[in-house]
Amino acid sequence: MEEVIIAVDLGGTNVRVAAVNPEGKILHKISFPTDASRGRERVTENILSKIHEFLRRFPEEEFEVIGGGFGIPGAIALDRGIVSQSPNLPGWEGFDIRSRLQGGFRMPIFIENDANAFSLGEGWLGAARGVKDFCCLTLGTGVGGGIVLNGDIWHGTEGKAGEIGHMIIDVDGPPCQCGSRGCLEAFASGSAIRRMAIEAIKGDEKTDLVERCGGELETITSKMVYESARSGDRLSRGIFQKMGMYLGVGLANLVNLLNVELLVIGGRVCEAFDLFIDPARRELEERALGSMGKRVKVERARCGDDAGILGAAYLVKRELERRKR
Ligand SMILES: [Zn+2]
Repeated sequence: MEEVIIAVDLGGTNVRVAAVNPEGKILHKISFPTDASRGRERVTENILSKIHEFLRRFPEEEFEVIGGGFGIPGAIALDRGIVSQSPNLPGWEGFDIRSRLQGGFRMPIFIENDANAFSLGEGWLGAARGVKDFCCLTLGTGVGGGIVLNGDIWHGTEGKAGEIGHMIIDVDGPPCQCGSRGCLEAFASGSAIRRMAIEAIKGDEKTDLVERCGGELETITSKMVYESARSGDRLSRGIFQKMGMYLGVGLANLVNLLNVELLVIGGRVCEAFDLFIDPARRELEERALGSMGKRVKVERARCGDDAGILGAAYLVKRELERRKR
């Protein structure tokens, strides 16, 4: 009988479900909209029914489903399995997600924050394979993060550790989603790239972005800035350099604090990796103490969109192995 793990990456927009074998091979995967506006009960009900439908592909005679791993956006009080903070799934605070999910299955269920699951995935089969101390950053609409120390996620007292995106880079910086100012997320996310580009254009700089957005600056997206940068637009290239510089400051802070061996950078914004990594490395080398900035490796994430799923699967694999011991 073949062992199979059900891995779920629950995002604010889409849910991805995969069957993963203990070696990390994805046997089958599906994706469907989260429909977060329907509220937590109906969203979880929908996920449970989709997973049960999915499980029919793995008949009991041939497969042994050994467990389910879930990556969830938001902080989780892991001792109780309760969502303690959830900006991407409004109304989920206080939700006993573990009991709710466990109630739907016979197999053991494990949950983890999504950025932490991403980090576990990269640690298992990606850029951080074999590395014990590393940090992961996911640059998307926001900036997520995970800290892995001695092979394990650092959760902190309340399970909220690893909010690398809210590391403060500039005390008087632009407002951040979280209510503070000048967080890394306000400089190194997709939303930040968009904001910086609009501000720069208003400062009367010449750019083909104006044409790209048909003169409607508010419709500019980070993707447009990326495409303009690729086509050689000076302003757009400058935005990615500026973003890289701030990212480098954040990386230097991480290295000074944790002296990790490796920094892994993933997320959608990484399509522009070559456009921002040089200024980021430069800043990191200049600002980190002593030789730490030169020694630390900075690498692009390797598991792509599957990192979260692989990490959720690894969570199950690791916990079941621990229980056996
Ligand atoms: Zn913030």
